[in-house]
Amino acid sequence: MNEQLLELMSRFKTIIHDDLSLEMKQYAEEHDVPIIQEQGLELMLQLLRIKNPESILEIGTAIGYSSLMMARHLPHTKIVSIERDETRYQEAVSYHKRADLQNQVSLIEADALEIKNESLPLLKYDVIFIDAAKAQYQKFFEKYEPLLKEDGMIISDNLIFHGHIFDHQQKQSRNLRQLVRKINRYNDWLAHHEAYDTLLLPIGDGVAVSLKKNKEVLKNHR
Ligand code: SAH
Ligand code: MG
Repeated sequence: MNEQLLELMSRFKTIIHDDLSLEMKQYAEEHDVPIIQEQGLELMLQLLRIKNPESILEIGTAIGYSSLMMARHLPHTKIVSIERDETRYQEAVSYHKRADLQNQVSLIEADALEIKNESLPLLKYDVIFIDAAKAQYQKFFEKYEPLLKEDGMIISDNLIFHGHIFDHQQKQSRNLRQLVRKINRYNDWLAHHEAYDTLLLPIGDGVAVSLKKNKEVLKNHR
């Protein structure tokens, strides 16, 4: 995106930071933890303000930054967040304790592809936020989509992957190339999903917003 546009967009700020959230951002930067970018978070929060969800399921807590920010900006929303890395999970627990969020956010240490869906604290969710291992997005989507309420929303982060998906493949390492291929595959799969309407927004690192298709509209077009 061109710089003038980015500058214009960055003038519209709604996120409220304090010492703790800034400390988390700094920790993330120092320890290479890929937390959501400011613009991506602005988008998420605005979508969530429209949706006004009772409950959010997040796949990929990291150190609890996005969940803390969602919880603080949506004080009536319950959040469940899953993280498989023990160190990051512990960091998240300790940050959330300091923010006194234990009643609003349930942090779960588990591999999101292994844990039983029925063992999660809530049975249905208004919003599912997929932000874990980029190569597994389709698996996360398929595993957790049944927990989405009928009018729910699935948000997937990092689908532009720092622009790597547009780069010349020969210049990429084998690992990067494989990841790019998987993200491209997810983008295609999601774009053609027969049960969901998805909009991909080039904000932050690329955020896809998926809603269940309106069945009446589908019928009228047959
Ligand atoms: N949502 C966070 C960032 C998450 S980074 C924020 O914006 O603040 C992605 C995280 O997903 C990493 O911490 C990684 O350990 C975790 N992760 C990757 N695969 C996972 C899986 N299968 N189950 C649970 N967590 C996973
Ligand atoms: Mg992300």
